[in-house]
Amino acid sequence: MSIAQEPATVLDGKALAKQIEQDLRARVDTIKAKTGRTPSLATILVGDDPASATYVRMKGNACKRVGMDSIRVEMPSATTTKELMAKIDELNNDPDVHGILLQHPVPAHIDERACFEQIDLAKDVDGVTCLGFGRMAMQQSAYGSCTPQGIMHLLAHHDIELSGKEAVVVGRSAILGKPMAMMLLNANCTVTMCHSKTQDLAAHIKRADIVVGAVGVPELIKAEWIKKGAVVVDAGFHPTDNGGVGDIELTGVESIASAYTPVPGGVGPMTINTLIRQTVEAAEKSAGLDIS
Ligand code: NAP
Repeated sequence: MSIAQEPATVLDGKALAKQIEQDLRARVDTIKAKTGRTPSLATILVGDDPASATYVRMKGNACKRVGMDSIRVEMPSATTTKELMAKIDELNNDPDVHGILLQHPVPAHIDERACFEQIDLAKDVDGVTCLGFGRMAMQQSAYGSCTPQGIMHLLAHHDIELSGKEAVVVGRSAILGKPMAMMLLNANCTVTMCHSKTQDLAAHIKRADIVVGAVGVPELIKAEWIKKGAVVVDAGFHPTDNGGVGDIELTGVESIASAYTPVPGGVGPMTINTLIRQTVEAAEKSAGLDIS
């Protein structure tokens, strides 16, 4: 007799982001009513990369949906590190700006790390500064990097048990893999970080209760490596004729995993949502509003 298998839970980031936006709209209204100021996110786009322009536009649209302002700063490709840092300083000193997002990547001649570090911690709603990362790692108040922070929110919303679990994060970038691993560690997972020099990636994935794909290589992580009942989180998105694929081969994963993020509609919407949520929080803090 075959035993019917429980269907995997779809970790639907699109639906959760929509739900959170309703709450954010109310919080934005409260800030406006109590302070006469509108929470505002400044986005800085350097150069003319079309994908970056699309991401910035999506972030501006998300601001609009919750009643926030977004200030769009566009700078030419020839901008120097010094000019970009001066622009960031100007935004740091503008009381009408509550959060600053420098769209990654900037042109190669610019020192991106130095520019990230120029962002005031109180306005680092994208969680890109070393100080913000360090504070997050030490479990002090800070805005987390938006993609991993959004993933943590999605897992918590679905009551995914993390404590004591084996988590494998594939990718170690500053904005995704590293903060993701630290957040999972702080949630009491036993964390393994994999990267391009890892020997036998499959062996690591095969023992993971939680797998996070953050590599930027289409379907690098194979469905057949996923352990029965694992939670599968895919941060990647690669457009295809059929809509797109992630960094994990998701075909077949529904019958193996206990839960998984769809691509698209899983991690992506939570990233932008986290950015907006953290900007609202920054506006509340700057206005001295009780957010407890
Ligand atoms: P990244 O900076 O290019 O980093 C990629 C990481 O993957 C690096 O640590 C690299 O290792 C590792 N890697 C590359 N090839 C590998 C291989 N064959 N085996 C094991 N590890 C390998 O990328 P990222 O910015 O973190 O982005 C990762 C993915 O997340 C991309 O698909 C990106 O589109 C997506 N993403 C999504 C969102 C969202 O909002 N949904 C936001 C950001 C990124 P090394 O360090 O050894 O080079």
